[in-house]
Amino acid sequence: MRTLRAMTAGPLHVGDSVVVEREHLEQLLQALVSRGYEVVGPTLREGAIVYDHLTSTEDLPSGWTDEQAGGKYRLKRRQDHALFAYVVGPHSWKKFLCPPLQRLWQAARNGKGMRILPEEEPATPKYAFFGVRACELSAIAIQDKVFLDGQFVDPGYKARRENLFLLAVNCGLAGGNCFCASMNTGPKATSGFDLALTELSQNGRHYFLVELGSVRGAEILAAVPHQPANDADKQHAERILDDTTRHMGRRLDTRGIKELLYRNYEHPQWDNVTERCLSCANCTMVCPTCFCTTVEDVTDLAGEHAERWRRWDSCFSVDFSYIHGGSVRATPRSRYRQWMTHKLATWIDQFGVSGCVGCGRCITWCPVGIDITVEAGAIRESDLVKAPADQGKDSA
Ligand code: SF4
Ligand code: SF4
Repeated sequence: MRTLRAMTAGPLHVGDSVVVEREHLEQLLQALVSRGYEVVGPTLREGAIVYDHLTSTEDLPSGWTDEQAGGKYRLKRRQDHALFAYVVGPHSWKKFLCPPLQRLWQAARNGKGMRILPEEEPATPKYAFFGVRACELSAIAIQDKVFLDGQFVDPGYKARRENLFLLAVNCGLAGGNCFCASMNTGPKATSGFDLALTELSQNGRHYFLVELGSVRGAEILAAVPHQPANDADKQHAERILDDTTRHMGRRLDTRGIKELLYRNYEHPQWDNVTERCLSCANCTMVCPTCFCTTVEDVTDLAGEHAERWRRWDSCFSVDFSYIHGGSVRATPRSRYRQWMTHKLATWIDQFGVSGCVGCGRCITWCPVGIDITVEAGAIRESDLVKAPADQGKDSA
């Protein structure tokens, strides 16, 4: 295994844990900047914690937390200067890896026809994501399956993904809408990161337990003052994560969920949802795994110039399922059923994993607070066709 000489401790190995003091976190961020990374991470803007460019750790939302419930998001001041004491906000990392708007090609009039114009190859950004939660690492792994593992590889996504540095942050508290523990995606980052931080604070000391996930992560950490983590540091971090797991705001029973939804296509709960769902598509826009796009052509008024764009789309729009003669999913009932059944059931057939990582964004940002855990729970409660194992349980 490759080893690196650390600044203040012995050689660093993938899998090691070290301690970095709060005052040295800036050096970690600057080590990324000096290696050409464009650092993006959580920052405060317009009443929310969003993901944007960071030039310093001063840009992080120090001393802020969030309160989330169905259709509700509020920021609150904390009594301390914690840097990561909140959960996920309205943005997800997909906006960097799979941008909402991308031009596919452009063309100019050429006599009676059109001529495709050569595109200037845009420079591929070299992103460092600073503060990725465990559920979000799972969401990125799911989007990798969509954009990289299938028959057709998305070249832009591939280039951005290959350049990516991932600094994860283990969650020290659970939000009101979090249910990553139910989906086995958190709150601890277990793979897919270069470095993973746990924020610790004790007796006036503010510091981070840092786990090394890759040689690249070790190279960055070698430029930052650190010391080996002792058992007390590791136990402190474990206690925090156990506490986070115990305080999840939501829970989803995933036992046999695919079969449950498949046998309940005609459940009355879908009608119940239709009375509330506005088909606004917020849930799909904020979801870190949703990946649907559409293609649009635009021209100037003189017909001299044309462009084709790819933009995010949603299965909640009527147009999304339009084929010759009409829309396949014409009602909110059919659209919500399609979305939820895809997330929790057909996604498993398609990609081998659930399409939901339990981040809770769709619950928070639904204007009417529709909650995927409640809807799935309601269907389980009054399962139209009980599975044989469940029937046995009822009669016992
Ligand atoms: S379906 Fe909802 S809870 Fe699940 S990953 Fe998407 S936004 Fe998060
Ligand atoms: S479930 Fe909520 S967020 Fe999603 S489309 Fe319906 S109203 Fe909008």
